[in-house]
Amino acid sequence: MQERIFLSPPHMSGNEMKYIQEAFDTNWIAPLGTNVDKFEEELCAYVGIDHGLALSSGTAGIHLALKYFGVGPGDYVFCSDLTFSGSCNPILYQYAHPVFIDSEPETWNMSPTALERAFEWARKENKMPKAVIIVDLYGQSADYDQLLPICEQYGVPVIEDAAEALGATYKGKKCGTFGHVGIFSFNGNKIITTSGGGMVVSNDEEAIKKMRFWSTQSREAAIHYEHKEVGYNYRISNISAGIGRGQLQALGGFIDNRKYIFDQYKEKLKGLPLRIMPISVHGQPNYWLTVITLEEGIKLTPGAIISQLGQENIESRPLWKPMHLQPVFSETPIFYHKETEYIGMYLFKYGICLPSGSSMTQAQQDLVINTISGKFAKVE
Ligand SMILES: *Cc1c(COP(=O)(O)O)cnc(C)c1O
Repeated sequence: MQERIFLSPPHMSGNEMKYIQEAFDTNWIAPLGTNVDKFEEELCAYVGIDHGLALSSGTAGIHLALKYFGVGPGDYVFCSDLTFSGSCNPILYQYAHPVFIDSEPETWNMSPTALERAFEWARKENKMPKAVIIVDLYGQSADYDQLLPICEQYGVPVIEDAAEALGATYKGKKCGTFGHVGIFSFNGNKIITTSGGGMVVSNDEEAIKKMRFWSTQSREAAIHYEHKEVGYNYRISNISAGIGRGQLQALGGFIDNRKYIFDQYKEKLKGLPLRIMPISVHGQPNYWLTVITLEEGIKLTPGAIISQLGQENIESRPLWKPMHLQPVFSETPIFYHKETEYIGMYLFKYGICLPSGSSMTQAQQDLVINTISGKFAKVE
């Protein structure tokens, strides 16, 4: 059987070893070190923001941001419903209550109309959120010109979860720079990886300073380890940051590759009763994953296609299962795009994430495409 084709495997560029070697040569295996400082600087320069804090994960970044905005027991936090659990688990770490907001159909990101209704509800019920977490899903920016004014109107800060969207833009500006605080992930399946890691970015120097303090166990300036506040061990290692520096240099090429893969799927799956994810005119995605949705009323289900691909040793998956349908978040309020139109549920029911890794070969992609087409030919 041919080698397994993964959804989004790590893709090393060759630049990474240089920075790892430097860390070994200088014995800066730990703590922190030049690679960490440089990775922060280089990533901030790339996205166009002033300050960055490299961490052990993107989830840690969201946790620190929530803490920075004073989220604590009993507070409310709005969050995109169609996302990975890393977006909202930190709300529970702070013993706060999530409120989920459905997607809109244009980018599958947070629906402005649902957000408006959630704020109206919060005002009436006296449950104003301390923060809103807006996700840039599958590498495409949310519609910030619609969303930010609503949050501003209520004076609630935005945390931009750009974990999947490094390198994507919205009206010429890079994702991660739209919230008061933005976060990125360098988990193994993201567009660049440090084998595990994340970063918080902001133009607010004080915010980053405070989060930096908490991320290193809240150590006061004293030789004997003095602590006035609870802290976390959330920093990235100098080795991992070295991988990140090499990866960042290759990011432009990775985006080109993923866009090519998206274009091929679009071209070669044409004519089948399915749709490729919509791309908004407002931005350039990084094409992290190509997602298709099957048309309603056909015989084939995503499950049948996923298992057919599985037989060819190809990994594919449904979309993120909406958070408010997750047992751990049951009892959580959800605001639909329209009172009777739940976009996230529809996408979860009909969508499939296809292999989209930047190292995927033409032959591998053709196998994915032919397997899908072959399944349709048999069933339809
Ligand atoms: C991957 C991901 C995260 C979490 O990042 P980690 O680095 O794995 O902690 C958060 N939000 C979204 C949308 C993600 O895709």
